Amino acid sequence: MEIKTATSQTGTGPLSRATRSPQKGMLIVVSGPSGVGKGTLVQELLRRRPELVMSISVTTRPPRAGEEDGVHYFFRTEDEFMLLVQNDDLLEYAQFVTGLYYGTPRAFVEEAIAQGQDVLLEIDVKGAIQVKERWPHGVYIFLLPPTMEELEARLEKRQTEAAEAIRQRLTVAVDELNFLPLYDYQVVNDDITAAAGKLEAIILAERCRVKRRLPQR
Ligand code: 5GP
Repeated sequence: MEIKTATSQTGTGPLSRATRSPQKGMLIVVSGPSGVGKGTLVQELLRRRPELVMSISVTTRPPRAGEEDGVHYFFRTEDEFMLLVQNDDLLEYAQFVTGLYYGTPRAFVEEAIAQGQDVLLEIDVKGAIQVKERWPHGVYIFLLPPTMEELEARLEKRQTEAAEAIRQRLTVAVDELNFLPLYDYQVVNDDITAAAGKLEAIILAERCRVKRRLPQR
């Protein structure tokens, strides 16, 4: 009598399906209030996991010293930005308290994920909510400051905003906390090494999820 095992069903059996690399990449959204340290943390994550692909956002903000077009952001005029919005070229976009616009180019994200790459977005909370509507199976991570006092201190230390702008950002940060339940994970950014380790652990665990490895039938 022939005993059929999962391995004897070469290429098509359940074991083969479960161990095969996933066809598509994951969308990982790192979000949270301004000043929480998203940028620094994401840079550390990319250093640890260089296989992650970072999406470069489009913005109407002028470049800061040392920032390059196409590296840190795609710097565009408001007219150019609005054209991208009209053409549905952005996966999401948001107007910041400063009146400046930020958005995620849609084609880059879709193509990279279709090719099996894991794509990282570092965006604000308004943007993350929009992405979740279009991409419910993404991984949504909310970065929290240790305390609101610490957030204020970090915004002041950056010295990129005036006192009024800092106050506005803190008010927005409090509102943004209401959206925490929409996220899958919360990570307190109290220590860069510890927080980056948590992000890495989340990504590694998500890659092992049965639902991601067995395509839904
Ligand atoms: P900054 O001007 O300091 O580089 O960024 C300001 C804020 O915009 C940060 O909170 C950053 O996460 C957010 N941001 C950057 N790119 C995007 C994007 O493509 N979409 C959205 N919604 N927010 C973004």
